[in-house]
Amino acid sequence: MPPAMHCTLFKTLTVCQFILTDQIIMVENMQPKYIQTVDELDTIVGLTKKERNDMEKVCETFPFRVNDYYLSLVDWKNDRDPLKKIVIPDPRELKGGGSLDPSSEKDYTKLPGVQHKYSQTGLLLLSDVCGGICRFCFRKRLFVTKERETVKEVCPGLEYIRTHREITNVLLTGGDPFSLETSRLEPILKELREIKHVNIIRIGSKMPAYNPYRFLNDPALMDILSRYSTPEQRIYVMAHYNHPREMTQPSMEAVAQLQQSGVVVVNQTPLLNEVNSDPGTFTDLFRKLSFAGISPYYVFQCRPSLGNRFFQIPVERSYDIIQQAWQRCSGLAKRARFVMSHATGKIEVVGKTQTHVFMRYHQAAEPAAIGKTMVYRSNPTARWFDDYLHQPTPIRGFLSMKMPAMQWLF
Ligand code: SF4
Repeated sequence: MPPAMHCTLFKTLTVCQFILTDQIIMVENMQPKYIQTVDELDTIVGLTKKERNDMEKVCETFPFRVNDYYLSLVDWKNDRDPLKKIVIPDPRELKGGGSLDPSSEKDYTKLPGVQHKYSQTGLLLLSDVCGGICRFCFRKRLFVTKERETVKEVCPGLEYIRTHREITNVLLTGGDPFSLETSRLEPILKELREIKHVNIIRIGSKMPAYNPYRFLNDPALMDILSRYSTPEQRIYVMAHYNHPREMTQPSMEAVAQLQQSGVVVVNQTPLLNEVNSDPGTFTDLFRKLSFAGISPYYVFQCRPSLGNRFFQIPVERSYDIIQQAWQRCSGLAKRARFVMSHATGKIEVVGKTQTHVFMRYHQAAEPAAIGKTMVYRSNPTARWFDDYLHQPTPIRGFLSMKMPAMQWLF
């Protein structure tokens, strides 16, 4: 085990007018303050010398960003607090392994900040800023490399979407699109709405968890969302709650405002060691999501991003955790699919026996592969799809060089 990071209690509770009780109660019209250095964090929570040193070393490679609203949700008396694991740099990030582009997004990048992997879905990477930096971010290259990958000038991306009539869904992502000013988002939504074949606009965002005040304090944002989320053509917010404790009262109010604006809110989360890998935690998360009218959409196997290994749980154990969590969930709470966002497509783990694992292409870069079912020998240490491909005795040989071995097709 790595050295634990013992943050002591908040040195000051007045930094953002927090009122702390067992559960946080928020002050209206709060503007969370962003914190990007270990010094600033120390001022708020008080770090030991060792914690400071450890964090500073990590921050030389992987940047740090959080805000004081989210920090206030952390239980600083608990070294193993799951919310702390989400945002506080951990020395294990430096242990290596993984890649900065674990899903080979560069292969599907058509223009800077424009990805097109699945026929119906185009991605626009609008921002390289988030409400916080998740330590397990699958796109941490946006924060780590100097190369700019997000769209500065959105017109070429919109033109790409306009000329690809097969695109019915556009995912605005990044980073977090809600880190942009409303005045910058509005013309993008307006232009997308003028493209007749784009029916669904998705906005990938952890802002409801990181900073619900982004929504609560901005009636203009709600206005534009309600204007462009119509009964026939909805806007979806793909929220990113990893843990039920992120679903605070202000966060739920923000979601309610989005829903009242006609936005459909769904949730996607990776399964993360030390964050939500306990079946009881996952049960609570799924149940709370369903109670709030947030459809659980995807549970991701944690991608092998650089520095992520300690967050990853072997695929088959992840599957078991989800099944256990679902035993105490209603049907509405277990609508998510458990998938790996692999370079070749979204691969759903659909079942397992003592000897084999069953997977299916839920989405695929090669449309012919969608729906194909694969059977692999069990590999309890596999953390990613590739670990099954490297088994010495596949059940059948490789069908093509481009797609990985699909050993058994039903
Ligand atoms: S919100 Fe998403 S893009 Fe931003 S740091 Fe977290 S995982 Fe990465």
